[in-house]
Amino acid sequence: MDLLHYDSQPTHVVGIIGGAVAGSEAAALVAEKGAIAVVFEQGARPYGKIEDGLPRWHDKLRQKEYERIDANLSREGVFFVPNTKVGEDVQLATLCKEYGLSAILLANGAWRDRPLPIEGIDAYVGRGLLYQNPFVYWFNHYHEAGYRGPQYEVLDRAIVVGGGLASVDVVKVINLELYAAALRKLGHEIDITELEVKGIPKICEDHGVDPASLGIHGATLYYRRSMEEMPVATADDPTPEQLAKLKVARVKIMERVMRKYLVHFEGNAAPAGAIVEDGRLVGLRFDRTEVVDGRVRTVAGAGFDVRAPLVISSIGSVPEPIAGIPTRGELYDYADWKTGAVRERQGIFGLGNVLTGQGNIKDSRQNAMEITAQVASDFLGVGEGADGGTRGRVSVNVEPAVEAALHGRWLDAAAVRKVGAFVAARHADIGYTDYASWMAAHRAE
Ligand SMILES: Cc1cc2nc3c(=O)[nH]c(=O)nc-3n(C[C@H](O)[C@H](O)[C@H](O)COP(=O)(O)OP(=O)(O)OC[C@H]3O[C@@H](n4cnc5c(N)ncnc54)[C@H](O)[C@@H]3O)c2cc1C
Repeated sequence: MDLLHYDSQPTHVVGIIGGAVAGSEAAALVAEKGAIAVVFEQGARPYGKIEDGLPRWHDKLRQKEYERIDANLSREGVFFVPNTKVGEDVQLATLCKEYGLSAILLANGAWRDRPLPIEGIDAYVGRGLLYQNPFVYWFNHYHEAGYRGPQYEVLDRAIVVGGGLASVDVVKVINLELYAAALRKLGHEIDITELEVKGIPKICEDHGVDPASLGIHGATLYYRRSMEEMPVATADDPTPEQLAKLKVARVKIMERVMRKYLVHFEGNAAPAGAIVEDGRLVGLRFDRTEVVDGRVRTVAGAGFDVRAPLVISSIGSVPEPIAGIPTRGELYDYADWKTGAVRERQGIFGLGNVLTGQGNIKDSRQNAMEITAQVASDFLGVGEGADGGTRGRVSVNVEPAVEAALHGRWLDAAAVRKVGAFVAARHADIGYTDYASWMAAHRAE
């Protein structure tokens, strides 16, 4: 389809912000319904959390998701505009008012780490404190020849504050790095993906090394609730029976993680203060907590200090603000959670991580609990017969937002050509000709 010379019937043109799982799925669906999708992606590569957030040992899943995103973005009717950040390179208001797009789908993910709730603690970022998103980004890319980002040192006895899937991955990353480095020092070739798939005790055994002899204490995850409440397995509105099963599944998952990766867990501990020495964060003060009627409460007088050379906060990710999108707390302000309709912004909808600020675990209406427990434990590399977490399929529910988007205004041929001229100018600026050539020129190193 040639937008510059479009001379057919009026059509819907949907602007999509973000080209990863959610954005590319939405684009393909828009095109399938006979409309036009223009996908603005801030990066050169459109893989989002799949490339930069999902730890790199999920190599088969990543590849599968890359292929699906590539297929979606190469579809007839989908126009991919990389290296274009909405809010910087083009304003949302321009897309809505000047080009009159039928609708905007916000598929820009959740990339802002939720701040650790200790006053003034962010002054220690890089001085004893790190956040999850840059840490996992580093882990996924530091071995690449072209990596120019910040370098982090993984230190023994690091502590992680969290409780969700991503925080479990963070403690795993720390221990995998620590044990790989110690084994390499002894002259053993270690591949991080193999270490993750087989587990630390098994790889040590294969090399005739007793893990205890390496003198590594390992990382500890601190969670404000108990292990049986960890959101590593979830269900929508579980019955009391399902909830009881979920609790057992969560403990089983976490105990397997601890055995396989030698990480530690401390529940009922909420971060309450910073321990600072010589301008550096050297640990955290925790409140001891209890859960009463589902609510976390501090147990008076039971606080304790934990010293650590490195603290990583992994308490969730939320969307970055975009000028023109109203926010409510940490999220965008939605009038309808089903379609993701943004309040008082007709024709603008959120989907994927943008909507919830967290991962959309594949759900099944009939059997939600079993499925999420299995998918989650596969992702953590500890599912029954786990194959390194390659079985899950990252899913986002795009249909309601796309359906709603296709109720927006129609663009006549002249208006479509005007959008086409804008896309062509942007493509000329960045040197984009077609998807395949662009991706070949922007391979991961
Ligand atoms: C450790 C881990 C385990 C997970 N396990 C599961 C699982 O078991 N099952 C499951 O379904 N999901 C799982 N997920 C979640 C899954 O990876 C995410 O839900 C999904 O990849 C998010 O896709 P997205 O398209 O919504 O967001 P993202 O992948 O974050 O994509 C957003 C895109 O928008 C772009 N962007 C951002 N801002 C702008 C802007 N202003 N202009 C233009 N472009 C912009 C970004 O560059 C990015 O490419 C997991 C995630 C992690 C990290």
